[in-house]
Amino acid sequence: NLSDKLDRAFKVLKGQGTITEINVAETMKEIRKALLDADVNYKTAKAFTDDVKQKALGNNVLTSISPGQLLTKLMNDELAELMGGTAAELDVKASPTVILIAGLNGAGKTTFTGKLANYLKTQKNKKPLLVADDIYRPAAIDQLEVLAGQVGAAVYTNRESKDPIAIAKEGVAYAKQNGYNVVIIDTAGRLSIDEALMVEIEQVKAAVNPQEILFVVDSMTGQDAVNTAKVFNDRLDFTGVVLTKLDGDTRGGAALSIKSVVNKPIKFIGTGEKMDAIDVFHPDRMASRILGMGDVVSLVERAQQQFDEKQAAELQKKIRKNKFDFNDFYGQIQQIKKMGNMKDLMGMIPGVGKMMKDVEIGDDAFKNVEAIIQSMTPYEKENPDTINQSRRNRIAKGSGTKLEEVNRLIKQFEDMRKVMKQMSNPAAMAAMMKRMP
Ligand code: GDP
Ligand code: MG
Repeated sequence: NLSDKLDRAFKVLKGQGTITEINVAETMKEIRKALLDADVNYKTAKAFTDDVKQKALGNNVLTSISPGQLLTKLMNDELAELMGGTAAELDVKASPTVILIAGLNGAGKTTFTGKLANYLKTQKNKKPLLVADDIYRPAAIDQLEVLAGQVGAAVYTNRESKDPIAIAKEGVAYAKQNGYNVVIIDTAGRLSIDEALMVEIEQVKAAVNPQEILFVVDSMTGQDAVNTAKVFNDRLDFTGVVLTKLDGDTRGGAALSIKSVVNKPIKFIGTGEKMDAIDVFHPDRMASRILGMGDVVSLVERAQQQFDEKQAAELQKKIRKNKFDFNDFYGQIQQIKKMGNMKDLMGMIPGVGKMMKDVEIGDDAFKNVEAIIQSMTPYEKENPDTINQSRRNRIAKGSGTKLEEVNRLIKQFEDMRKVMKQMSNPAAMAAMMKRMP
């Protein structure tokens, strides 16, 4: 699979200290092959690898990050950029907002219609009306009614009518009369590109003037997805793409190709058959998925860890010599604050993102402490013992804090230093343990 291929590609770079023209060229060749296997089309894959190569050659290798890791990071950023950079919002300002759902049979239109209603109800506080406009398969109307029932959304149907253009118009009128602020029109599918049905959906579009036209496509269909997207976009000029069935084995290379061929944002992804299996599309997360980033996250973490371990060792030495000072203390605070960035990193791991959402490490927590330390002179920071009463007064004034706060911080610092010193001295530690009951 792609992950193995990337591993092999990175092996080429392993143990090599610098990124050179040759090792990048070899790696990029492997990566281009891997991308092609993941359904990324040739032009996109070529442009992508060329771009990464340029950037890689312009970059110096960081000490703690190997060329492979750096390349991976570059590729991830580049892929995310190609897929739109940031998440694209759905435009639901108009009341009612009309959303037309289009795509081939079996792409997941009806399922997505239910999911979108659920999303708009629960996340955007909307009152959606679903319009059953697939009149060719009687079961399609039943299916939409069942899904609407599951999410508690209303459905407009007209089982007598054989005119999808009229039904769509009726649905929008019904929404206006009954206070629905979003209308989602589930249209008939096509087995393949079918001229009659194409004309029909163009007419539905003209009749209801939708703010959003979402093209739904099965991510498992690979390169076909790209061709279909192109035809639908030429005819409908849709506003966004919905990529379904990303819960399967597919790596989602289609996302990249579609975006680069039709240049429309991917707005949602479907990750299952249940009504809550819908996610706003995040380019960076998709980039991670395409690259098989589980590995990359652990690589970056390991690099980070190595860096921290080196710092920790230096700190140990200082503590042992009783040289731990306010500079180190300040550094420790910055380390704790960096946990905020760790949060972003953790968010890339499936399932962890939601968990981390509630954990908040605020910068405010350390604001006063930082201000106090910053108001110390370099001499004071390195020689905490010299900070006498008049210096403390000056620091309080300079940092805009109270004298008590400065006193408290220095007291805390001294206590901390004492404990640290004891802990770093094995004999003292042993003595301390003996005294314990
Ligand atoms: P439509 O013909 O475009 O309306 O497609 P449907 O909504 O009827 O979906 C076709 C099939 O795909 C159904 O069995 C759905 O349950 C399934 N399906 C739709 N979206 C997803 C998805 O995101 N993941 C999975 N695993 N199945 C999906
Ligand atoms: Mg359907």
